Amino acid sequence: MLTLKAQGKLMEGSLEELREELYLTRRAIQYVIDALWELDKLPTINQSHQMFYKTLRKQGFRAHQCKQIYKYARAIVESAKENGGKKPVLKKLSARLDKYDAKVDLENQLVVVKLRNKVFRIKLLHRRSYIEKFKGRKWYEVIINVDRSGRIWVCIPFRWCYEPYKPGRVIALDVNFKKMVAYNGRKVRRVSARFTEALYLKHLAENIQKKHSYAWRRNKKWFGIIRALHRRSRNIVVDWSRKFAKYIVFKAKRSRSAIVLENLERLWFNSSQKSSSLADKLSRFAYRRLQHAVVTKAIEYNVPIIFVNPRGTSSVCPTCGAKLVYNHRLAICPGCKLVADRDTVGAINIYFKAVQALAPCPGSRGTRSMTDETRPKSGRPKNEPMTIYIHSYKFI
Ligand SMILES: [Zn+2]
Repeated sequence: MLTLKAQGKLMEGSLEELREELYLTRRAIQYVIDALWELDKLPTINQSHQMFYKTLRKQGFRAHQCKQIYKYARAIVESAKENGGKKPVLKKLSARLDKYDAKVDLENQLVVVKLRNKVFRIKLLHRRSYIEKFKGRKWYEVIINVDRSGRIWVCIPFRWCYEPYKPGRVIALDVNFKKMVAYNGRKVRRVSARFTEALYLKHLAENIQKKHSYAWRRNKKWFGIIRALHRRSRNIVVDWSRKFAKYIVFKAKRSRSAIVLENLERLWFNSSQKSSSLADKLSRFAYRRLQHAVVTKAIEYNVPIIFVNPRGTSSVCPTCGAKLVYNHRLAICPGCKLVADRDTVGAINIYFKAVQALAPCPGSRGTRSMTDETRPKSGRPKNEPMTIYIHSYKFI
């Protein structure tokens, strides 16, 4: 699934009417959520239909919209209960419509939606080449949003056939707050990330919040400044992730490589999830955005993605397998005298994990590298340090 996302402009219907409809929809979904939340056991879709359909119809919702409402509410409750969360409270003004209540005309960049008895025609404001990519593909639903500043957003998930090619090589990516380190078996390439810039803005916002402790909530000027800082910080992360994703995916596609990422989800869940320091929170957010951006772009261009277990990627020597000794971020191998920084070690180890996963050959660490030319050949003396070529690359 790939989602078309665009800002919209109303060609028919007024913003007030659209807001009103979305408000009613949100209220209806919340009503269903509240009702379902009280139940010990979640009813089936059919039972939900029995419970809510008539009530929703009485409020003027169209038949398929009713279905969307209780299905969506049910899904929200289900996931909240699974995660052991609190009762969900909807904040966004949005509505989901299926093909019976929405029309998508990509030729004219138009979306027509019916909410109760009102019709809204929305022009998609996005460049032609972007819209073009989705032409002729199947879509499932249309999601309409109105944000706080009154902008309309349209999201349409399209079916996408992801047929990744068979990779000849791999590019391993060590994701770090300050830089991304890529290793393709020959070269280490570093790209500076702009996440520290985003963190700086967050710190600014936090300082203002601390300094004006309670007043900032009431003071319009301060509130506006704080919100703008958070938003800019977020935009830096999102934009940069997208740019980097494009860069790495194109690079992988050109060399018919797979992209390898560490699967960090579980790691965070276990350890630093509790940590609420600004840097930790932002780095989790940044990593997730980056991963999301890379995966989305990879799907779009049929580039294979491999996730590897992050265990030991920075603590074991990539050449001989001995445990590394660290001096700050510099790793020194007591076995083979390799000296490299932490991120480089990470990227190289991620690389070997993926190579091993792609061509599993039983045996020692030496045999798993048959596809790779930089690995020590069996004849190479073990204590000769490995040569790593480092190319710096600033990514703006
Ligand atoms: Zn070593």
